[in-house]
Amino acid sequence: MTAEPVLNAARPETERAELLVWIRETLHAEYGDRHLDPRREPMHELISTILSQRTTWQDEAAAYDELCKIGDWDAIIAAPTEAVAHAIRRSNYPEAKAPRIQETLRQIRDSPGGYNLEFLRDMPSKDALKWLTDLPGVGVKTASLVLLFNYAHPVFPVDTHVHRITTRVGAIPLMGEQAAHRALLKVLPSDPPFLYELHLNLLKHGQQVCHWSRPKCGVCILRERCDAFAVFGDKVPSFTDTKASGKGTKKKVQG
Ligand code: SF4
Repeated sequence: MTAEPVLNAARPETERAELLVWIRETLHAEYGDRHLDPRREPMHELISTILSQRTTWQDEAAAYDELCKIGDWDAIIAAPTEAVAHAIRRSNYPEAKAPRIQETLRQIRDSPGGYNLEFLRDMPSKDALKWLTDLPGVGVKTASLVLLFNYAHPVFPVDTHVHRITTRVGAIPLMGEQAAHRALLKVLPSDPPFLYELHLNLLKHGQQVCHWSRPKCGVCILRERCDAFAVFGDKVPSFTDTKASGKGTKKKVQG
């Protein structure tokens, strides 16, 4: 009797590591080289990433531009919180983000380097992650983006696209985004250019092919090794709906 395909089958770490290398190579062939060049200065990256939570990049950019119209970082700290929330209204949850941004800026201003985060470059990655995630409103994804993109630390930001694709393919067991950071980092090479390219190409693949709903499996270059495709064929369900509609599913796929 043929074994039924299992979504997110248990795999040893060596197999997960090999699968991730294959994903990187396969996406590289499709999307090409990515050079690890900082896209914006560290404070811009940090505040923009806080604004980007549950927000499109167009709205994130608009919110950042409006925020900067208040003045420099000192002026944003001194401004009424309602004014900051109004400035970032294009970002989702502005009332929650505004006080966090002000408190984050306050703590950075009062740190030994002030608004210059250059000291993070030479800090061990673990300590740098801790320093950033101790700031209010800065989670492991935001911290990882700043450390990888700006300082080439060997960390791996897991956004919604990275989480969805690596889970569907079966490179990580089913878990939330926070835990996925640790699980992926454990089996990925400690190689910043590799991590940067894999992050950006997974993001692109998630935007263009492996959508949250109705992924385009028929044209997907990862389908030959994808658990979700093996189980569901061309009918891979929306990411959060997998358990409800998933024949053969052993665990829930989370969003
Ligand atoms: S085969 Fe389908 S579910 Fe699997 S990675 Fe490709 S688009 Fe996503």
